[in-house]
Amino acid sequence: MADQLNDIDGDQIESNYDEVIDHFDAFNLKPELLRGIYAYGFEVPSSIQQRAIMPVIKGHDVIAQAQSGTGKTATFSISVLEKIDFSLQKCQALILAPTRELAQQIQKVVIALGDYTNVQCHACIGGTDVREDIKALQDGVHIVVGTPGRVHDMIKRRYLKTETIKLFVLDEADEMLSSGFKEQIYDIFQLLPPTTQVVLLSATMPSEVLDVTQKFMRDPIRILVKKDELTLEGIKQFFVAVEFEDWKLDTLCDLYDTVTITQAVIFCNTKRKVDWLTDKLTSRDFTVSAMHGDMDQAQRDVIMREFRSGSSRVLITTDLLARGIDVQQVSLVINYDLPANKENYIHRIGRGGRFGRKGVAINFVTNDDVKIMREIEKFYSTQIEEMPMNVADLM
Ligand code: ADP
Repeated sequence: MADQLNDIDGDQIESNYDEVIDHFDAFNLKPELLRGIYAYGFEVPSSIQQRAIMPVIKGHDVIAQAQSGTGKTATFSISVLEKIDFSLQKCQALILAPTRELAQQIQKVVIALGDYTNVQCHACIGGTDVREDIKALQDGVHIVVGTPGRVHDMIKRRYLKTETIKLFVLDEADEMLSSGFKEQIYDIFQLLPPTTQVVLLSATMPSEVLDVTQKFMRDPIRILVKKDELTLEGIKQFFVAVEFEDWKLDTLCDLYDTVTITQAVIFCNTKRKVDWLTDKLTSRDFTVSAMHGDMDQAQRDVIMREFRSGSSRVLITTDLLARGIDVQQVSLVINYDLPANKENYIHRIGRGGRFGRKGVAINFVTNDDVKIMREIEKFYSTQIEEMPMNVADLM
């Protein structure tokens, strides 16, 4: 029992499976699926993907718990696509999501990842013409992704035949099983073949979800990907007393040779400042890339890819993206502006404990900033020292 329900908030499950596969090549996927994954822009599997895809492929019931935005949708989409027999034009996987938008989004991901397969994936959601559902289902689809109400209706009316379903996926299980959907989901469960493999994905693991695992899952593999705790350990933190805002730019240019020894992220407090600094540096013939929240996702993806691949070495950005950027490979962070709040300091320069490596952070500090810097030091019980001449040797 202790290993089933643990943790202070009673909200987490322990993992009971520790196989980790850190390359998409190593999953032994159908070649056309692998091609779709790479074409979609994924390079390496995320933490939850490294752990949860394989047990699903192997046929286990799986409970995967990880924060949102960690790649759970792609986890089950890839697993489902791998398990479908595309020569059989029948529904083999049913995916339920709490909202129409989410169901449609999942359908898009499945279709995109399955671009080189001939996958037929239908979104069966409320608020759409029932006749279209009926027609699509009669024509035959491999995967149905939908909201509980419409799916239940289609099953009851025998348009969605469940005999060939071998995989049942419940996305956002925490939300679905604590809302009004609970009964409907139970009903759907009961209409599926008893051998159906069940996969639950959830950001949290409240008791309702655990109830379901006991009722409907056989010996589930449980995978918990904890939030990486950020730490300042191992990070050398320095300040440069620039005195006045206007002197920051020249200071940065003086540092440029040092900066480009490695890869660096430079943080500014506003999007406008990011654009301004990018212009200034570019006009002085420094090569930099920039990214902020006004750019669309496609643009951001390109920039992140360039940065990850090392073809761009300096990235200027805002806090908005500090949390999302995987800066494990970055050994230098420059706070061109000190962060507007203390929490963001660790998001900008901290490292996940498990991947923790050394790094250097340089803070540009104007006369007005000195007080804020002292507060940051106190808040994190850490020390920010004046940047030494040989800072390059420390990277
Ligand atoms: P969740 O379902 O956990 O909220 P998603 O599956 O929606 O997370 O993924 C969040 C974002 O990360 C999406 O934009 C998705 O395309 C992207 N993503 C997921 N897996 C990978 C990966 N292996 N490599 C790069 N990006 C990924």
